[in-house]
Amino acid sequence: APLVGNLIGKDHVNYVLMYNMLTGIRIGVSRCQAKIKRPLTDDDFAARHKFSFDIVGNELTPSTTYDFKFKDYAPWVFRTLREDIFHMDPADYLLSLTSKYILSELGSPGKSGSFFYFSRDYRFIIKTIRKEEATFLRNVLKQYYDHVKTNPHTLVSRFYGLHRVKLPRGKKIHFVIMNNLFPPHRDIHETYDLKGSTVGRYYPEEKLQQNPRAVLKDVNWIKRGRQLELGPEKRALLEEQLRRDKEFLKEVNVMDYSLLVGIHDVKRGNTEGVRSETLKVFSPDLPKPRRSMHAPKDAEAMRRAMNASDPKRLGKGKGTIRLPEKDTGDTQREGFLFYQDEGGLRATDDNNEVLGEGSRDDPDGKIYYLGIIDILTPYGVRKKLEHFWKGLKDDRHKISPVPAAEYADRFFSFMKAIMRGGVGGAAFMTEKERD
Ligand code: ATP
Ligand code: CA
Ligand code: CA
Repeated sequence: APLVGNLIGKDHVNYVLMYNMLTGIRIGVSRCQAKIKRPLTDDDFAARHKFSFDIVGNELTPSTTYDFKFKDYAPWVFRTLREDIFHMDPADYLLSLTSKYILSELGSPGKSGSFFYFSRDYRFIIKTIRKEEATFLRNVLKQYYDHVKTNPHTLVSRFYGLHRVKLPRGKKIHFVIMNNLFPPHRDIHETYDLKGSTVGRYYPEEKLQQNPRAVLKDVNWIKRGRQLELGPEKRALLEEQLRRDKEFLKEVNVMDYSLLVGIHDVKRGNTEGVRSETLKVFSPDLPKPRRSMHAPKDAEAMRRAMNASDPKRLGKGKGTIRLPEKDTGDTQREGFLFYQDEGGLRATDDNNEVLGEGSRDDPDGKIYYLGIIDILTPYGVRKKLEHFWKGLKDDRHKISPVPAAEYADRFFSFMKAIMRGGVGGAAFMTEKERD
């Protein structure tokens, strides 16, 4: 992954924050987990539970190293999401996050001031978010739940939990736990954060020398002549899922999200090695040559397959998608369409054959790791103002802050354009950028 981060030790400024977040998760999640599973009610979406931790402890909460308060939002909804929708083993989740208090911090890669932390096995990311983002997620939680439930293969960020810690001086920090799109066991050679906007969407390539892991943007993608190398089957599936996802994002009135694309170059292979001692169980070998998935030919069958609520059952029956047998050892990714090849999506040629394994078209195999991230920014007052000011200087339709419906459609058209066979991303650039 391009993101590795610094381990947080006892002398780190955010050690206490990390300790409190993990303790809160451990106690909050196991509290909910200990109860017998029941169907969700409407109240579950608005629910919140408060915990007070202190160094003494009481009959409800164990003693902790620091005094702090913890809030668990919609615990039953997130439990149901984790177990029923994202097929995550509950013990596995808690173990990854809290069996040892180790996180690494990525600092703040965005302008937003959010902090990112990885679980010690790199499978989960904790992102601190602004209060408005947390409120927003709670407001659309029902719609989010419905969307991921009816779209088991969605590319939209998977949220596993939403919490808040309050430190003794009163500072409140909201955070979400989500899936790391990038696999712990593969080097990512190039990363792109794509929005379908081109204004200000360029990472100066001369800076790559000092910062080879930098996240590149739309204009870098276009200038480098990149394409998503996918044969007709994978292309159709990806396009259909992106179409559904952008409709959902439009409905909840968000913008500013991106398609994060990590590219593993099979020929370059792994030079950075496995990133954590616990990850050696995840097959460290190069992907084996094999045929791509077989997608159904007609639209109706495709829709059926993509709606299958149990991805493990995709492999049965005629006209459904056959996924390869599990091979990542990572239950978080098993059985999901776009995570099927070593946790990602292997490039294919026009005959749907895997590229880079004796294929005719291209000697270079690639695995793409894809997902839609940063989906908690509604098109509100702040963004309307930004739209106004940026629109004075540049094309009002090409700047990144535009209303949600316009954003969604542009995002989707851009992603279609950059798949092999598409019109290419250059059409999205302004005159100024083209010279
Ligand atoms: P801004 O609002 O300025 O864009 P942000 O703080 O909201 O920034 P994000 O856009 O969510 O941050 O993420 C910043 C970067 O962190 C991404 O470009 C990506 O490199 C990495 N990142 C975020 N989410 C994930 C994820 N789920 N998996 C892997 N990497 C991620
Ligand atoms: Ca972003
Ligand atoms: Ca953001």
